[in-house]
Amino acid sequence: WALRWVWNDPRVGVVLSGMSTMDQVRENIETARKATPDSLTHSELATVEKVKEEYKKRIKVNCTGCSYCMPCPSGVAIPTSFDFFNDAFMFDNVEDQKEIYLRLVKEENRASRCTECGRCEELCPQSIEIIKNLKEVSALFE
Ligand code: SF4
Ligand code: SF4
Repeated sequence: WALRWVWNDPRVGVVLSGMSTMDQVRENIETARKATPDSLTHSELATVEKVKEEYKKRIKVNCTGCSYCMPCPSGVAIPTSFDFFNDAFMFDNVEDQKEIYLRLVKEENRASRCTECGRCEELCPQSIEIIKNLKEVSALFE
């Protein structure tokens, strides 16, 4: 759906999609074969719009997980921290996400290890206020 939505725009000539397995390459090629500009119906586009609004309502940090901000010199697992943080609100379940965060993210990689050097914010293509958001992650989970 996401790739079909991008290809639906007639101004788009090339889609760059991160792929890590051969299966993903095959799947993307298959999708690209079917996708043509203006091929999504009004009802499909309205569904995408509705889903987008639902996500926006729930997600706290607009992190795409690109990892351009990594590695953090202080070892903070930036995208992973935001992932658990967003899931806590996405699934309305802070306790479970907190437990998973504390179990999977080692102490030396947790949000509270941020020294506010600012390096990551210069690198983030989404202009996320990483330092401020990490403080919120730390307050909620740690
Ligand atoms: S601001 Fe914090 S999270 Fe960002 S690179 Fe510096 S120490 Fe790491
Ligand atoms: S660079 Fe920004 S969008 Fe990408 S993983 Fe880091 S915080 Fe998230």
